[in-house]
Amino acid sequence: MGPAAPNNAPADAGRRKFLLAAGAVAAGAAVGGLFWLRRAGTPHLLPDLPYPVDALAPVISAATVGFHYGKHHQGYVQQLNRLVSGTRYADRPLDEVVAATAGRADAAAIFQNAAQAWNHAFYWRSLRPDGGGEPPAALKARLEASFGSVRSCREALAAAAVERFGSGWAWLVLDGDRIRALSTADADVPSTAGQRPLLTIDVWEHAYYLDYQNRRPDFIKTFLEKLVSWDFANENLG
Ligand code: MN
Repeated sequence: MGPAAPNNAPADAGRRKFLLAAGAVAAGAAVGGLFWLRRAGTPHLLPDLPYPVDALAPVISAATVGFHYGKHHQGYVQQLNRLVSGTRYADRPLDEVVAATAGRADAAAIFQNAAQAWNHAFYWRSLRPDGGGEPPAALKARLEASFGSVRSCREALAAAAVERFGSGWAWLVLDGDRIRALSTADADVPSTAGQRPLLTIDVWEHAYYLDYQNRRPDFIKTFLEKLVSWDFANENLG
């Protein structure tokens, strides 16, 4: 499967089959549209991209999205399915696999692939065509309470993304009643520290290198101006 056709037939067929399962769509409404993360059973599915592969250009090119979604994200899902087959982690929802394997030396590879599958599913909804702008009122009030201003929040999130050394993820999370900006290394997820993810930015080089090469700060700045989905973060406030 190449970047020209990221929505491959097997994934679509699996998703249609899944959508027919009783209650799947209704359950999705309660978890901010991330219902596939609660789907029990293997194989885990590559969720559909919520927009066409070229919809983020020129901020993120179709080539980047094609490889990122069609090769990297798909690869984590496929590897996870291979790794959990025949183990106690088979037939469990993705978020439960992440929680159950975090910090376990005997399940490190399963955790890494499960967390990367989760993080990428969350990432594709953390951005959208014609994103950016001002957050919805509810989120804006929470950001102002935690950071002083939306601008300060953007700066804190950008700093977390730029300063992460090597591969990882920048996040806005709900930590108690405060919203914080932070980053995690490699595949790590804030939920294992009791924080609720609201938004993420992938800062692995594969997320931006074709378009920005080593200029991660430019990628982050443009992401926050043009693509960030404050609506998604607002939904995740719950
Ligand atoms: Mn990635």
